[in-house]
Amino acid sequence: MFSKILIANRGEIALRILRACKELGISTVAVHSTADANAMHVRLADESVCIGPPAARDSYLNIPQLLAACEITGADAVHPGYGFLSENARFAEILEAHNIVFIGPTSEHIRIMGDKIQAKQTARDLGIPVVPGSDGAVRPEDDAHAIAAEIGYPVLVKAAAGGGGRGMKVAKTAADLDGALANARAEAKAAFGDDALYMEKYLGKPRHIEIQVLGDGKGNAIHLGERDCSLQRRHQKVLEEAPSPCLNVEQRNQIGEIVANAMRKLKYRGVGTVEFLYENGEFYFIEMNTRLQVEHPVTEMITGIDLVNEQIRIAAGGSLDLRQEDVKFEGHAIECRINAEDPRTFMPSPGTITYYHPPGGLGVRVDSGVYQGYKIPPYYDSLIGKLIVHGRNRVECLMRLRRCLDEFVVDEIKSTIPLFRDLVENQDIANGQYDIHWLEQYLANTSES
Ligand code: ADP
Repeated sequence: MFSKILIANRGEIALRILRACKELGISTVAVHSTADANAMHVRLADESVCIGPPAARDSYLNIPQLLAACEITGADAVHPGYGFLSENARFAEILEAHNIVFIGPTSEHIRIMGDKIQAKQTARDLGIPVVPGSDGAVRPEDDAHAIAAEIGYPVLVKAAAGGGGRGMKVAKTAADLDGALANARAEAKAAFGDDALYMEKYLGKPRHIEIQVLGDGKGNAIHLGERDCSLQRRHQKVLEEAPSPCLNVEQRNQIGEIVANAMRKLKYRGVGTVEFLYENGEFYFIEMNTRLQVEHPVTEMITGIDLVNEQIRIAAGGSLDLRQEDVKFEGHAIECRINAEDPRTFMPSPGTITYYHPPGGLGVRVDSGVYQGYKIPPYYDSLIGKLIVHGRNRVECLMRLRRCLDEFVVDEIKSTIPLFRDLVENQDIANGQYDIHWLEQYLANTSES
């Protein structure tokens, strides 16, 4: 086992990882920018190293500084969390070259899945159903109109290097195609420095359902069921739940087994998430994330399995000691992403938290790095915490969630808590009847009234 882990992240996820390390008896090193000197992850870690100025590219994305921090502290492994360098194959390789373990999959698997065109090809080869679309990249010299006509409109133009919903444009008809391609290419070039594009059938009313996997890199892999992340704004998840209100046990077992089998063939190591769109009873692969996800706690709540603990044990060379039949799904869990944003305009709202009271009680978990008096810096994403609630069934879970949202106080900044208070009162949410466009439509309707 490792003796010291450096956590190359900040905020709630740095804290989440720190907690798993402490329970395993592993020393922790926090890294931070000058803007995060007072952050909770810095206070709770055994050691901390300042790795640069506020801008992420100068600190949390600065590989030489992170290596220096490992060297100074003698850390033998690095946990990248999510975002930042978590899906950077080069970072994984550089650490390996310095005999420091990257807590994650092999750099080869990160690279394959990081390129969505290659990822789709690989998924198809492994027997995973994919969204119908172009056979690989659509190059400027290709006849894009012929390819799109074959797929059938509407089509979605997507960036091979895509992430965070960027570089994605819909062409409803042939008249929109040239514009969609040009816009997606420009956005992808600016965001990722890579303008490779591909096309996919645009699904009208899908749900976003993803399967959590766990593998040991030796050919053993299991799935931990699904998460339904259909409640999205601008292709970004807002609320996640497990199990999905629209899957039954057979459907779960079937897709779960397809994915687990693929991971066995791939000899996948660590945690990963295979994302699907689900429409009319069919699953369509869209991408795989080769890291821990923001919404992992809903899976932990219904399985009782600590995913970060598993990640660390496997990275240290351990074998998967869970068999598929050991995984039991109990009750229902919902996560709300609490952002420091105006609940109507979604404008970021950094500032000082003058009063903080998180909810508690049975089945309640708050993953957050904030505290009373904490000043939210304006340099990073606006996620300030996650409220995760578990109940014996979905009805109980929603009732508990409503009670928790009532209790939750984060003053004087604006947060998305009022949005969730409205959502728990909504009949479609109560019925579990929503697709990936539901929230945008809801927001458009409520802003009119
Ligand atoms: P990113 O990596 O940028 O987040 P994804 O491929 O994971 O991109 O897609 C993000 C979201 O975009 C999905 O959850 C879904 O809401 C929407 N989306 C992606 N592909 C399609 C598609 N073929 N049809 C309809 N919506 C899609």
